[in-house]
Amino acid sequence: MTVMTYEGSSIDPARPSIARVYDYLLGGKDNYAVDREIGDVFKRDLPGSVAIAFANRAALTRAVAEIVKTTGIRQFIDLGSGLPTADNVHQVAQRHAPESRVVYVDIDPQVLVHGRALLEKDERTRVVAVDVRKPEAIRTHPDTLDIIDFTSPVAVMFSAILHHVNDDEDPAGLVRYWREQVPSGSYFFLSHFRSGHNAETVEAEKVLQQTFGRGRWRTDEEIASLLEGLEILEPGILPAPLWRPQETDSRWGGVGQRELTVWEHLIVAGLARKP
Ligand code: SAM
Repeated sequence: MTVMTYEGSSIDPARPSIARVYDYLLGGKDNYAVDREIGDVFKRDLPGSVAIAFANRAALTRAVAEIVKTTGIRQFIDLGSGLPTADNVHQVAQRHAPESRVVYVDIDPQVLVHGRALLEKDERTRVVAVDVRKPEAIRTHPDTLDIIDFTSPVAVMFSAILHHVNDDEDPAGLVRYWREQVPSGSYFFLSHFRSGHNAETVEAEKVLQQTFGRGRWRTDEEIASLLEGLEILEPGILPAPLWRPQETDSRWGGVGQRELTVWEHLIVAGLARKP
């Protein structure tokens, strides 16, 4: 069965999708047998991959809340936004500032169908079906122009997306593009697979590459260089559970005082500001 979407791209239940496997790891229901099969390989051979997914999602949620609570920013561009789950960016932002506006960007056809259904009634959100590697097409998309005022600071969210962009596709160039489009005072959130130079990383990278043909685990230096020209805010780029942790985070795997597992070191998060 193939389900056609608005853009003419199709949902293929016979091929795993990054968005649906991630949804499965987060306990969601928007996935097919083929996604669960891959998800189960992750769970069996790489038991920490669930912790990575939760730690990442929690850091994203905290970052959105912090941006809205500590700055005047009320507009977000969420690149590689994924399937709707609990606490989507607009829900977290609007909880603190109801006027917040969000453009979700993803290429997965299922994200588009579900996203549009979820957001149908929300006038302050849009789902844009454009490849993040084509930033100009996102920037000039009518829905983006409808929602985002590029003369005011914007929060650009690169949450668990740039590790799906290979080196020869210039991930730093994508961040640079958006840095040049937004005014001073804009924020950038980044979370990224971090290479630990250990057996787990090598195995995880292999499974990801075999499944999706992409998935680049970068070193701390490589990740920091993606944010070149931006001021990285305290406490820097850290394993996601350690990035501005909160007591109330237990649902998403909050860390408290305990030691991190080896897996939780494999996803880092950070927030940066355009000077
Ligand atoms: N940002 C969400 C989060 O952090 O919870 C979801 C991250 S999920 C791991 C990665 C998402 O990026 C998937 O939904 C996938 O469809 C999307 N994606 C991957 N490559 C993409 C591309 N080139 N353009 C747009 N979206 C992409």
